Amino acid sequence: MIDDELRENIKKIALQNAIKYNGKASSKIVLTRTLATNLEFKNKINELRTEVDKIVREINNITRNEQNAEIQKYRIVTNVIKSNTKLPPLKNLIHGKLKTRFSPEPNGYLHIGHAKAAIINDEYTSMYNGEIILRIDDTNPINEKLEYYNAIEEDLKWLNIEFNNVKNSSDDIELMYERCKQLIRSDAAYVCTCQREIIQTNRYKKKSCGCRTNTEEQNYKKWNFMFNKYKTGEAIIRFRGDMESNNTVMRDPVLFRISDGYHPILKTKYRVWPSYDFAVAIEDSLDGITHAFRSKEYELRNELYYKILNSLKMRKPEILEFSRLELKGIPVSKRKIKSLIESKKISGYDDPRLSTLRSMKRRGIVPISIRKFILSLGFTKSNTLAPFDVLESINRKIIDPNSIRLHMVKKPKKINIIKIPFKKIHLHNYPSTNKKRLVTIHENFYLEYEDAIKLKINSKIRLIGIGNINIIKIESDCIYSEFIDDVLDNSIKKIQWVSENAIHKLKITIPKEIFINDKFNEDSLVEISSYTETHYLKLNKNDMIQFVRFGYCRKDSDEHAIYCHK
Ligand SMILES: [Zn+2]
Repeated sequence: MIDDELRENIKKIALQNAIKYNGKASSKIVLTRTLATNLEFKNKINELRTEVDKIVREINNITRNEQNAEIQKYRIVTNVIKSNTKLPPLKNLIHGKLKTRFSPEPNGYLHIGHAKAAIINDEYTSMYNGEIILRIDDTNPINEKLEYYNAIEEDLKWLNIEFNNVKNSSDDIELMYERCKQLIRSDAAYVCTCQREIIQTNRYKKKSCGCRTNTEEQNYKKWNFMFNKYKTGEAIIRFRGDMESNNTVMRDPVLFRISDGYHPILKTKYRVWPSYDFAVAIEDSLDGITHAFRSKEYELRNELYYKILNSLKMRKPEILEFSRLELKGIPVSKRKIKSLIESKKISGYDDPRLSTLRSMKRRGIVPISIRKFILSLGFTKSNTLAPFDVLESINRKIIDPNSIRLHMVKKPKKINIIKIPFKKIHLHNYPSTNKKRLVTIHENFYLEYEDAIKLKINSKIRLIGIGNINIIKIESDCIYSEFIDDVLDNSIKKIQWVSENAIHKLKITIPKEIFINDKFNEDSLVEISSYTETHYLKLNKNDMIQFVRFGYCRKDSDEHAIYCHK
């Protein structure tokens, strides 16, 4: 069934596509992109196609200005807290003319650090009613995979970020070649055929190589050889910077190199690829970006960014830096994560111990918490190593009203209670509403071991929802007790229980810090087999639960829940 939500989704995709292609969306592309996230329509493709065709017709019939206005509406509707932030105002900006970009490389999954960049861009876009584009920075074929392109889009969608346009840097590779030729012609770039080690030593010693004196004609010839004659590593294009500069980035940096890697989209069509520095400067300028945000470790590269654009007489965006964000004890380095996965220390990029968006989603951190958390840290330049509990306390406030309260015991200890005057009781699902669930009870229950071992003969405890009981006898396999009354007495300890005839066995995974003082924490994932109520089975996957006196968890499956936080 095609519902309103799906229709809206198709409309958004059609608008993005229309804006990308001069106001005319392509039914075929819109259909493919819709299918990618709605696989259930694979067998009902005709039904979906009819709807897509209809929507694409509508979109193509309105003007480009109207299309732009429509897509802006989506941004405002779908984003939750916007413009209400502590981000400092931007300078050199005409209201309504802001254009930002988020440009991740498709070489891994997005993590909290990427989320910071994406959210800052998104918030500014809302503050100034600007435009934001997603540009997948895919000019390094060796590390890039198609699965990451898709994952990036999915994860950003989860973060509630809508883009006015989605593109790949590799779309513009021919334009980048043109700019490179322009640099060669104006003698601002040259081909260097020295060995990598020699280039490195020369850079260190602030020494130029002979290639620097190539004539324009020689450079041009060698540039052409890069496409067919030279092998990988035999020739690079270098920017004529300053070999004596104190900024090492400026010592004739690489603009293009040969890479025979298989590109996820362009396959083997190209082998000469721009460096990050070249691609980002050209693309930002060509895309009309007014303000480019990047993290502080790129600060030294700003000089090069502007020099490249100056040499080409191209428009220069304003660059702004923000500090890098990591969570304490959680690695973000791809190399570290890869080695943890390869050595089977973690299960994958969605392992709940990581700070990838996928991990956080599995754990039960919601997108709005991530946004609030990032904005709460502000725009400081000093690197932030934030403790997880700051994010935790923000998330708790948000998920609490919608987390069902269930009883669970980690280490069950049997208790027999006689004289309970009822067979069924109602337990409150949420503290703020009157929704209740019915639990059938008999004589036998389970208590948490930690609670049970503290019990003494003739002591009183209160079982939540049932009432006060008195302990009569304690044996190794069972505790015997009797019901007294239901009178609320605050001096009596209240504990949770599960009824023997309504038990569901549940595995709960508890993620902890992966690294403690840079050493892998062997106890970073604790698994417990618990008893909870059968009501758990009625919940949907992804539902949040607050297990009473334990903490918040997310339902991963009927058999498995993941601990989120206290
Ligand atoms: Zn050289």
